[in-house]
Amino acid sequence: MTVYNFSAGPATLPKPVLEQARDELLDYQGSGMSVLEMSHRSPEFDNIIKDAEGLLRELMAIPANYKVMFLQGGASLQFTMVPLNLAQGKKAYYLVGGSWGKKAYNEAVKLSKTIPFEPILLASSEDTVYDHIPDFDPASIDKDAAYVHITTNNTIEGTSIYDLPDTNGVPIVADMSSNILAARYNVEDFALIYAGAQKNIGPAGVTVVIVREDFLNDQPQLSAMLDYRIQAEAGSLYNTPPAYSIYISKLVFEWVKNTIGGVDQMAEINREKSGLLYDFIEQSDFYTSPVKNVKDRSVTNIPFVTPSKELDAEFVAQADKLGFKNIKGHRSVGGMRASLYNAFPKQGVLDLLDFMKKFEAQHK
Ligand SMILES: *Cc1c(COP(=O)(O)O)cnc(C)c1O
Repeated sequence: MTVYNFSAGPATLPKPVLEQARDELLDYQGSGMSVLEMSHRSPEFDNIIKDAEGLLRELMAIPANYKVMFLQGGASLQFTMVPLNLAQGKKAYYLVGGSWGKKAYNEAVKLSKTIPFEPILLASSEDTVYDHIPDFDPASIDKDAAYVHITTNNTIEGTSIYDLPDTNGVPIVADMSSNILAARYNVEDFALIYAGAQKNIGPAGVTVVIVREDFLNDQPQLSAMLDYRIQAEAGSLYNTPPAYSIYISKLVFEWVKNTIGGVDQMAEINREKSGLLYDFIEQSDFYTSPVKNVKDRSVTNIPFVTPSKELDAEFVAQADKLGFKNIKGHRSVGGMRASLYNAFPKQGVLDLLDFMKKFEAQHK
């Protein structure tokens, strides 16, 4: 039975990447060692991390005045590191279009009890279960604010921001965890981008942070592990990095570049894959998408529901038996969620559509 893994993260990885990792597992390129047991100060690992950075710079067209870091603590630690390093006594706005954005805002509020800065909820769509990206008036943003925090893809609710909002000249900080390398963004439009790797880049354990140099902090009192400047100056080797996760991420970057052809091609494939599913849901009077506006539709996470909770549970159970794994929606939204990240094959979407048609015919 073919298994398709719809997990929202950790998520499916490109098969050729796993095969290469398997082939190199015991002896990495004639070193007589596995990357798993290699010193992070060795010349071999030095090449791996430099290649990983170089490839990511090329794929995302990251300008030279931005630092790239491979950190630990997940995207969730960035909810604290961002205000700690960047807010510095100023206002920090949060555009909350989903549960992760709300968590980022909540962490900032907590931090502001001990560190002087002012987190402000710019807009939220929580009252409609985050079924759209909320609007706001740019003029309501204080020009002297430190940043506006956005989530480019709401992993749980299936909405995205493709066209960046007008923030009255205030720099944008983005949580790009679930659509980095899946859609094209201009890095110059951001002060800082962060992303947990386990959705679109690689295995869990590494978090990519891309920050414009002039946003590196100037606060020597910060704990070293939480200090972007120290981490960046050490080339992500201040302490032992998640070496194996960085190695797999490097292989994924190579796959996006060499096999797919780059981020624009990747984005095109993702629009096609997700388009098949959206078109099917739209013509069906059995399945519905909880996302209100077509323009907000995520290409990487597509939630949908049947007419009842009972049928949703039945769908998930039958799907699982047929090899469509991890398609249950997040508990806060219910129903189903198909996460179609970069490595998810188009055939998996076509096979899912066949199953959806059959299920609809059975239960209509
Ligand atoms: C998964 C996710 C997170 C949390 O990531 P961790 O690495 O588990 O901390 C944060 N933001 C978004 C948008 C996510 O999808």
